[in-house]
Amino acid sequence: ESFDDLDIGEIVYNNIISVGYEHPTPVQKYAFPIIIGKRDLMACAQTGSGKTAAFLCPIISQILFNGITDPRSCKDEIPQARPLCLVLAPTRELAVQTYQESLNFSQNSPLISAVAYGGTPIQSQIYEIQKGVHILAATPGRLIDLMRRNAVSLRDIKYLVLDEADRMLDMGFEPQIRQIIDSSDIPKKTRQTLMFSATFPQSIQKLAADFLQSYLFLAV
Ligand code: AMP
Repeated sequence: ESFDDLDIGEIVYNNIISVGYEHPTPVQKYAFPIIIGKRDLMACAQTGSGKTAAFLCPIISQILFNGITDPRSCKDEIPQARPLCLVLAPTRELAVQTYQESLNFSQNSPLISAVAYGGTPIQSQIYEIQKGVHILAATPGRLIDLMRRNAVSLRDIKYLVLDEADRMLDMGFEPQIRQIIDSSDIPKKTRQTLMFSATFPQSIQKLAADFLQSYLFLAV
């Protein structure tokens, strides 16, 4: 099994190789074609399975394939960040880790990543994301804060990822997650939604039923 067989484009392929990965993990092997095939996905995968690369690589590949404009060329006086991909994560650590992997897999491309999490002053995060962002990794509470301040808009979202969804529910983030996904801003029909969870209890099944469209189920 090699990354050669997975249709992810030269830039992302080269970045995977330069990170040192030689073979796709099972979740990567099965999730890549599903995501590139534009299907919604509910994946049961543990931390350590390689799930972060499993969603980031095909998303980055698709964004680059479809072409991006440089958000920093925007002439608005107060540019409102409009990411194409939002990754919701339960903790600061996971959001930062996702952001760092996003930087790795988008090297040598014009794609811009940013991260936002609570428990630290919001101003420097606002400054960062308002310089422009394609992939935003965020914790739910801080994202809502940013939305309230009109610092970020979800109207261009094409990829929504709920990472470690069971952990987000365990931490009490369900109302925030629902508020974000129910907001009038975020596209309902045109976005692709991907959920990753270590477990698949009823609460997660309900979330998947509410927010995914004719999704594929993957357990590794
Ligand atoms: P994750 O499940 O996304 O938290 O990834 C767990 C760890 O596995 C991370 O340190 C990744 O860098 C590493 N990893 C992910 N995919 C691969 C791969 N295909 N080959 C080797 N290491 C990997």
